[in-house]
Amino acid sequence: MGKTKKQSILAEDMDHCIICGAPNPHVHHVFFGPNRKWSEKYKLTVPLCYLHHNGSNAGVHFNKTLDTALKTMAQRKFEETYPELSFREIFGKSYL
Ligand SMILES: [Zn+2]
Ligand SMILES: [Zn+2]
Repeated sequence: MGKTKKQSILAEDMDHCIICGAPNPHVHHVFFGPNRKWSEKYKLTVPLCYLHHNGSNAGVHFNKTLDTALKTMAQRKFEETYPELSFREIFGKSYL
């Protein structure tokens, strides 16, 4: 993984879990399922350790509260980074 090419607009440090700081995290696509391709395109990914990703009920794929919190944060950052684009049109809904 190159250090020079920015992989995410949501996290500076992609080498540690954004929640607990654990090393060697997974890369989670904040908008997954049919919107995964847009997460990819607009760099809406966050580093999450196994437990905060999909390895426990606290993980984002099972924890609706955490999922929504990340999506709200990602939408804010998206609108700040790409002011010419409509988040709602691309992702089909608003989380704000
Ligand atoms: Zn973690
Ligand atoms: Zn994920």
